[in-house]
Amino acid sequence: MDLHEYQAKERFRAAGIPVPPGEVATTPAEAEKLAAKYGGAVVVKAQVHSGGRGKAGGVKLAKSAAEAKQHAEKILGMDIKGLRVEKVLVTPAEDIATEAYVGVLIDRAKQAPTFIVSAAGGIDIETVARETPDKVRRLTVDPRYGLLPHQAYWLANFLYDEADLIKQATTIIAQLYDAFRESGASMAEINPLITTPDGQVKAIDAKMSIDDNELFRRAAVAAMRDTSSEPTAETRAREAGLSFVKLDGDVGCCVNGAGLAMATMDLVKYYGGNPANFLDIGGSSNPDKVVAALEIITSDPNVKAILFNIFGGITRCDDVANGIVTATRRIDIETPIVIRLTGTNEKKALEILKEAGFSAFTSMDEVVEEAVRLAGVAAGRVA
Ligand code: GDP
Ligand code: MN
Repeated sequence: MDLHEYQAKERFRAAGIPVPPGEVATTPAEAEKLAAKYGGAVVVKAQVHSGGRGKAGGVKLAKSAAEAKQHAEKILGMDIKGLRVEKVLVTPAEDIATEAYVGVLIDRAKQAPTFIVSAAGGIDIETVARETPDKVRRLTVDPRYGLLPHQAYWLANFLYDEADLIKQATTIIAQLYDAFRESGASMAEINPLITTPDGQVKAIDAKMSIDDNELFRRAAVAAMRDTSSEPTAETRAREAGLSFVKLDGDVGCCVNGAGLAMATMDLVKYYGGNPANFLDIGGSSNPDKVVAALEIITSDPNVKAILFNIFGGITRCDDVANGIVTATRRIDIETPIVIRLTGTNEKKALEILKEAGFSAFTSMDEVVEEAVRLAGVAAGRVA
């Protein structure tokens, strides 16, 4: 789960990191009011889950409250990488002397949090790391001990020459690690970490992703979820207890078990098709879940055929078949559906499906080929 900048900043502030004040506005008039409160010179910043807002025109400096209102008029409702801007953060403009980068993320290969810092901040860190790797310092933290003081110092020392700046940055880096850990984050980033002309170090941008598996024990963080900025299909899937990832193809897949779902997607590709999604309905044959899955799949206008691939172990195939029949009676679906069921009670299941008029299979190859063919026909690729 991604946090908005203003939310990540709240977490940072709570950990003691110096972050300028700021408040969120949803209308230009509100933005103007906030700007007036901060004395006029402010930055108006789009709150969307996307990098490169600055380049997209989503971060604008204003010299007066009236100008802040104009910027908010442009930014609110703007489309940044397919996301509509619903909120802007209004924050006093800072004088910037230097911009650095400080980030910490879980390194999957090392199975530990890893810091990345660079004095070349403000811009895209991936580019800096690729093109000028000597401008980046990395440090992997042993999670048993946490970030040790000398390690925080070693990182800060790479950013600045002046003792006082190094001292401030050392504290901030340690606080960033605390915020990262205490939030259950998989990534926390300050870009840029600025110095002001009078020698203060501050975080003026904040980014944080939370590991979804950490949310159950962090109610305050979980409450920060902004469903309005998530694709609705993903919200719906999460609420229905389904694992769902949208993809670009046109064969909608509905499978039980993550491994089988992956194998099904591979096979769709093998037969020349393209999966429209990954969807694991889990071990349940609850018709409500099947309805939710079908609603999610059919809400994607790209989907030209729907493929069910169910392996009945503990799950009984006849239960799933009944679930599919009930679900398709409850919602109107024009997209062709093909179903493969195998395992426990498969004979009974096939009877139920055939009686209801479905194409039912037991072979995975056959059903996938058929789904790919039907999608091809619907898309006009094959006759
Ligand atoms: P991002 O583009 O989404 O990463 O947004 P940032 O908050 O990092 O802002 C992008 C850039 O805008 C920064 O690197 C700064 O150069 C500039 N900027 C942002 N806030 C301020 C500010 O308060 N004062 C000044 N002078 N520049 C700012
Ligand atoms: Mn930034």
